[in-house]
Amino acid sequence: MTITFLGTGTSQGIPIIGSKHPVCLSENQKDKRLRVSVLISWDDYNYVIDCGPDFRQQMLANPIDKLDGILFTHEHSDHTAGLDDIRPFFFRQGDIPIYAHKRVVDSLKQRFEYIFKTKDRYPGAPAVQIHEVKNNEPFILENKTIVPVNVMHNKLQVFGYKIQDFVYLTDVKTIVDEEIEKIKGAKVLVVNALRLDPHISHFNLEEALAFIAKVKPEKAYLTHISHLLGFHEEVEKNLPENVYLAYDNLSITI
Ligand SMILES: [Zn+2]
Ligand SMILES: [Zn+2]
Repeated sequence: MTITFLGTGTSQGIPIIGSKHPVCLSENQKDKRLRVSVLISWDDYNYVIDCGPDFRQQMLANPIDKLDGILFTHEHSDHTAGLDDIRPFFFRQGDIPIYAHKRVVDSLKQRFEYIFKTKDRYPGAPAVQIHEVKNNEPFILENKTIVPVNVMHNKLQVFGYKIQDFVYLTDVKTIVDEEIEKIKGAKVLVVNALRLDPHISHFNLEEALAFIAKVKPEKAYLTHISHLLGFHEEVEKNLPENVYLAYDNLSITI
């Protein structure tokens, strides 16, 4: 299984439009971060987690012939705003399967009503096939079991996903012990670390590191990064041995 980080930035991305912050002005490619998403590929299958506003650009940078489905974490725009850009896959393959909490499906229906409409459809509109995700109900994608992991983003429920030894969690602020039990012993854990200062709905660096120490994965990668975390090279120097900062287009094999 190969995991490609399509984007590792927080909601505005890095650089932020118009920002003169030194991290936004950095020429290091690793300091340029599109909105968070990962591509998960195995055998002949390709799935993405989330489909944010940079989806088109991410698919051009990491081309795939076919998209087998999208797993959504939650409805925030930085995770969903690129849904219209599934069109090239839809034209070739037909309805694209999406996996999400019912609340997220309802939100997508409101914001992309033309995609979900069954009558009088615009000929160029893409269509999706809905699969509702429920906590404590693992589901099968091809030959793999996907375990939803329930986390809290301040007051909003968010799904993370465990696929064999790989766990992807984003937009976490709190997680109950029962959910942590589901992911203990994972080989690779991806989790959000927004910045140094605390934030109401995201782990900061300290909270993310404390969480990693609890889960004890072999390796952990930090994502959903703001310019306020600092320069990639400098932050990474001070991380514990098995913890890395993810960066756009990083690819790992599990
Ligand atoms: Zn987010
Ligand atoms: Zn969010």
